[in-house]
Amino acid sequence: MAQSSVLGFPRVGPMREVKKALEAFWSGKSSAEELQKVATTERLRTYSIMKEQGVEIIPTGTFSLYDHVLDISATVGVVPPQYANSGLNELDRYFAMARGHQKNGVDLPAQEMQKWFDSNYHYIVPEFTEDSTFSLQSTKPIDDFVEAKKAGYNARPVIVGPITLIAIGKVGAAAKSESFDTMTLLPKLAAVYGELLAKLSEAGAEWVQIDEPVLCLDRAASLSSEFKQTYESFAKAAPKLNILLATYFGRLDKNLDFVKDLPIAGLHIDLDRAPEQLDAVLAAVKDKKTVLSLGLVSGRNIWKTDLTAALATAKKAIEALGDAKRVIVASTSSLQHTPITTANEKKLPADVLDWFSFATEKCAEVATLAAALRDASSASSILEANEKSIKARRDFEKNSNPAVRERLAAIKPEDYNRKSDFSVRSKVQREHLKLPLFPTTTIGSFPQTKEIRAYRARFTKGDISSEEYEKFLEDEIRDVVKRQEAMGLDVLVHGEPERNDMVQYFGELLEGFVFTQNAWVQSFGSRYVRPPVIVSDVSRPTAMTVRWSKFAQSLTEKPMKGMLTGPVTILNWSFPRADVSREIQARQIGLALRDEVTDLEQAGISSIQVDEPAIREGLPLREEDHTAYLKWAVESFRLATSGVTDACNVVSHFCYSDFANRQIMESILNLDADMVSIENSKAGAKILRTFRDVKYSQDIGPGVFDIHSPRVPTSEEMYERIVAFTKVLDKSNIWVNPDCGLKTRTWDECTKQCEAMVQAAIKARKEL
Ligand code: GLN
Ligand code: ZN
Repeated sequence: MAQSSVLGFPRVGPMREVKKALEAFWSGKSSAEELQKVATTERLRTYSIMKEQGVEIIPTGTFSLYDHVLDISATVGVVPPQYANSGLNELDRYFAMARGHQKNGVDLPAQEMQKWFDSNYHYIVPEFTEDSTFSLQSTKPIDDFVEAKKAGYNARPVIVGPITLIAIGKVGAAAKSESFDTMTLLPKLAAVYGELLAKLSEAGAEWVQIDEPVLCLDRAASLSSEFKQTYESFAKAAPKLNILLATYFGRLDKNLDFVKDLPIAGLHIDLDRAPEQLDAVLAAVKDKKTVLSLGLVSGRNIWKTDLTAALATAKKAIEALGDAKRVIVASTSSLQHTPITTANEKKLPADVLDWFSFATEKCAEVATLAAALRDASSASSILEANEKSIKARRDFEKNSNPAVRERLAAIKPEDYNRKSDFSVRSKVQREHLKLPLFPTTTIGSFPQTKEIRAYRARFTKGDISSEEYEKFLEDEIRDVVKRQEAMGLDVLVHGEPERNDMVQYFGELLEGFVFTQNAWVQSFGSRYVRPPVIVSDVSRPTAMTVRWSKFAQSLTEKPMKGMLTGPVTILNWSFPRADVSREIQARQIGLALRDEVTDLEQAGISSIQVDEPAIREGLPLREEDHTAYLKWAVESFRLATSGVTDACNVVSHFCYSDFANRQIMESILNLDADMVSIENSKAGAKILRTFRDVKYSQDIGPGVFDIHSPRVPTSEEMYERIVAFTKVLDKSNIWVNPDCGLKTRTWDECTKQCEAMVQAAIKARKEL
């Protein structure tokens, strides 16, 4: 009989209990015991939720106080010496690695964070050096398993595999050589994993789920012997333990050639992201005893699964393998990337809510699939209701906004292009904007003060009228403009006081998005976000920012920069639709923004910034898919920005992009923006050389100070940075600005920072 399972569950608790407990502990308001008590309650609660929904195989060890990657690092001893030798206890050391520690004379920085594959979840990057040694330092995976087992659950421990752990790690600062091949540490690391597996087996585990999502990357193709040796060593270390090797977020492709021969008892594949791999996988495992875990219920989206289609896939697998016992129906990945339950959404219309399936409901879906495979009649009413809901959703989607689709279909090639080349436009713009050499500007936001947030909260609650709120915002903008004039900046901004978030703000004003009350997903540690959901064709019913930009421009003689979030960033930081491609959604948002951009120009705004910090993170996992993605990403931006005249200065901004990647650099060039500002204060001239290498001829504003830090660099220090830029770029192309927006700074800090920046630019004008 086919069994059901999920690969992991959200950790936060239905009402964000774990987040609150963590923050209370960090601020000293509660003890470690109190924190652990909440953790235990919530851990057990997730097991009972899964079981109640009918999931048969319960994952353990996916609950984490901060990050599951950090958990395994701490367990097998991937702990850099400064933390290992800090004298801190296990829990404090763990949090020191996660978020730094500054207490009682111990001063440790946090470790770096990175995005977990192509998700918006950040993990703590494991660090390796030539001298790294490993050992079992925590019994967490075993404790979690034993706890669940004692409580009566059919538990399957989950750990991130050693090859993925090294592949997503980096060379630590203490290494002798920056180019040290961290994979050479694998045998040592695998030996400790072997010990851990043996202990799990001793503790009664029959199965273990080892996550190796690196198998869905090109990189794994060169790691076949590493996989073979490692998993052979596991088979020896824990001969009775069945290993389920879990892959997700993509396709195995050629990596299947060696994966199929690994000594594993089960293989998990993602059939939402890569349904096309099923045939090849079935053929590869058919004549073995391997159990196949089918990822049918998406762990990455919030939509109801089409159970009829999923059931057909599962039946096909059972038929091919000839034995239902060899099939598990499962979520595609851990459900940690989805919110906990739709039951906490009280404000969405019932028909909309009916389209959604969050973690709890997804558990019920895998259970229904398993039940239906056993006995079709047992699940017939659920399947019927599901079919109806899926159909209603499809009908809605098909008809949601024909005008948008028609408009998109009618786009002509010239709609992607500015009227003239940059060389022509830039002269017109310099004249029009009356810019000096080394023009100064900022990235958009100024301090989001407590007062601003309090006013917004009162307005959202209905405690103050929209007139009162708007009047407050106008006063705020007046103040921001006055301050910038005093700082001596050349191109001003309105400061974004009206925005709760750079994506949510636009989502709320565009048609096609809905918002939840409690659909939190983990970004990192105790930080959770509530992404907007794209439910239908996107359009712009009325102007969104024109009112504020126009008002701000009326207050000053200096050019006022309009401020928008770009189509790719809006898409990447939302839950996308599943019925149409990301490409179509990005283009629709691009079209909606196009109207805003032209309206802004018509309202007298001559510089418009369209932020695209998320272009990099939308990059597909496989290199062969990059070109197609970057093409539509760039075109969506061009669609948004090319409706203006030559006199309009179109700007874009990127914070954490991978500028060393030539393809990304070329795409940034292809945006054909008149200026791009980038985070650069810590990188010196290195990144700029790659701009030069791709013959970037437009203007660039490399950040001259770090906006994450309260530190005020001297104007001399910033001047030296400008000098370094001029060694690589033509000085007529260089703008002077911070790394990113200033919303997290205080007024005192950013005033001093901006004043010093302006002084640096004035000196550059005189001396360079
Ligand atoms: N305009 C935004 C701001 O200044 C840009 C933020 C970002 O790049 N993440 O806050
Ligand atoms: Zn930024």
